Amino acid sequence: MELDYSQLAQWDKDYVWHPFTQMQMWNAADPLIIGRGEGSYLIDIQGNRYLDGISSLWVTVHGHAHPVLTQAIKDQVDKIAHTTLLGLANVPSIQLAKKLVEITPPGLTKVFYSDAGATSVEIALKIAFQYWQQQTDPQERQKKKFISLEEAYHGDTVGAVSVGGMDLFHATYRDLLFEGYKVPTPYCYRCPLGRERDQCNLACVQVVEDIMEEHHQEIAGMIIEPLVQGAAGMLTAPVGYLRKIRELCTKYNILMIADEVAVGFGRTGTLFACEQEGVSPDIMCIAKGLTGGYLPLAATLTTETIFQAFLGEPRECKTFFHGHTFTGNPVGCAVALANIEVIEQTRLIQHVQDLARMLSGKLEGFKSLSHVGDIRQKGLMVGIELVRDKQTKEPYTLEENIGHQVILEARRHGLIIRPLGNVLVLMPILAMSEEQLQQVLSITYQAIKNVTERES
Ligand SMILES: *Cc1c(COP(=O)(O)O)cnc(C)c1O
Repeated sequence: MELDYSQLAQWDKDYVWHPFTQMQMWNAADPLIIGRGEGSYLIDIQGNRYLDGISSLWVTVHGHAHPVLTQAIKDQVDKIAHTTLLGLANVPSIQLAKKLVEITPPGLTKVFYSDAGATSVEIALKIAFQYWQQQTDPQERQKKKFISLEEAYHGDTVGAVSVGGMDLFHATYRDLLFEGYKVPTPYCYRCPLGRERDQCNLACVQVVEDIMEEHHQEIAGMIIEPLVQGAAGMLTAPVGYLRKIRELCTKYNILMIADEVAVGFGRTGTLFACEQEGVSPDIMCIAKGLTGGYLPLAATLTTETIFQAFLGEPRECKTFFHGHTFTGNPVGCAVALANIEVIEQTRLIQHVQDLARMLSGKLEGFKSLSHVGDIRQKGLMVGIELVRDKQTKEPYTLEENIGHQVILEARRHGLIIRPLGNVLVLMPILAMSEEQLQQVLSITYQAIKNVTERES
């Protein structure tokens, strides 16, 4: 089938509203239209190849058009594409739930499916809220609020935005949101409390403890992105912070919700980020990498204690009244199972650790670029901050749109990346080869140099 680029580009402008996109700007440019993928490459409909430097928005694990994952989808579609989990069970959703319980941190025993990271967070919040409502102790039924971090990102639905902390995305909707406690983030390198880095950790932990001590009677849960605040610009947490939050949640009888949507499935160098600090949350959200990036599927896992609080006679109304039409979709579950099998068979986590080590060495070289500020890395999550002035860290203005300029330059050299404001994000596909990752780095380096040093 011959694809007519200009026809499709026109229809895209006529009919498609793109996410997180100023459409006025979008419609003034020619869209890049992807036709297919192959391993670490995206291929546009005119046949140009690009390295996928952001794992197709943080999801791709083994690469595009992987034969095992593709086959798992085909095999399942031949049997059945969809059947409901309301009142029925299906094979892949059973097998996947068992597998997830085995591979996630100890203590998580039940799996509630949905379709997106945001829905997995909504479910976590509603489960935590309802859990306390169903306690016999009237004091505990007062626990209705959530603690979340500044700069946090948990998705774009109203509940997830309520526990989000990124003003740029969230301020518009303020009147629509529920209130909670926001605590300063120790993830960034500029301490919100004006402390030195290691002092910052302690000071930020102290704020959490102070709030918990004073208000624990009304706090249902605390939600956190373990180790890395992704959308905030790849901000990495000080060692021990996650562990400390776990201890405080336990001490003050508050449910800990770990949002592993971005960091889960190997991204940080362990299968789940919580493992690095020996933490078992009460509730865990997973999505992005769950299906290897092939189909929309998410899950919220809980402990047995939480699950038990929802058991009772129908008249007691303890049921979790929540579900999505495509909950537990068999094709999504089948490809997720294949994804996990391939992770195990290829010893992917070891490969990620090797790549991460190489990456951190090569990123050293970026520090000499005259407009690179902070560089942050955890596993295969990287944020490279671009600054107008390296000494004062004066940022580029919104009008300069520097991140966008750099990614367009990278695209001209065969690399797809996407910035978060003035922060360039690199999220290589986990199974990418060393050579390909080297290529991602050299194109990025050259693109930063070309754009920022031409500018000034
Ligand atoms: C991407 C992301 C979400 C939202 O996931 P969607 O599938 O886009 O709804 C939630 N939490 C974190 C940490 C994320 O990175």
